Amino acid sequence: MLARLGAGVCEVRIPADLAGLDGLVIPGGESTTITLGVEREGLAGPLRDLIGRGLPVLGSCAGLIMLDRDHLGLMDMRAERNAFGRQINSFEADLDLRAVEGGPIRAIFIRAPWIAEYGPDVEILVKIEGHPVAARQGAMLAVAFHAELGEDDRVHRLFLDAVAAWRESPLPG
Ligand code: GLN
Repeated sequence: MLARLGAGVCEVRIPADLAGLDGLVIPGGESTTITLGVEREGLAGPLRDLIGRGLPVLGSCAGLIMLDRDHLGLMDMRAERNAFGRQINSFEADLDLRAVEGGPIRAIFIRAPWIAEYGPDVEILVKIEGHPVAARQGAMLAVAFHAELGEDDRVHRLFLDAVAAWRESPLPG
């Protein structure tokens, strides 16, 4: 999705991979597995440092969970894992996100979390039946669905807007 939008992409597996990035995607998958990898490679400190200094991030599904208080502790929110139920309860929904123009996005939820609690710095972009499933805090954007699946690239465009802003004026240090 990002390559199609003209961004250069590479995988981040170890702290050295973070050098020179203008943005980071924490993808879907399993937050337990991602946490193990983060611990094994000593990525938590470098991630907190970079993202804390304003590096734009897009977290999808397990990526949203990784950004919450109980994981990397970067967004002031608590994600409820598998909140919609098990694999069989995966679903699609048309969502109108604040900050995304042009009508609803067809969003794909796969054993998705929702945001169970959040603080005042977290801007909720959309809810399903009262449960927030997309949010923003500074340059961090978290969605409970898989924005990379399907054809709609507007969430990734929103992320790349933050990347462009960061490239123009990265904070010192
Ligand atoms: N259920 C997974 C978790 O708890 C997230 C699923 C996903 O990323 N599609 O980490």
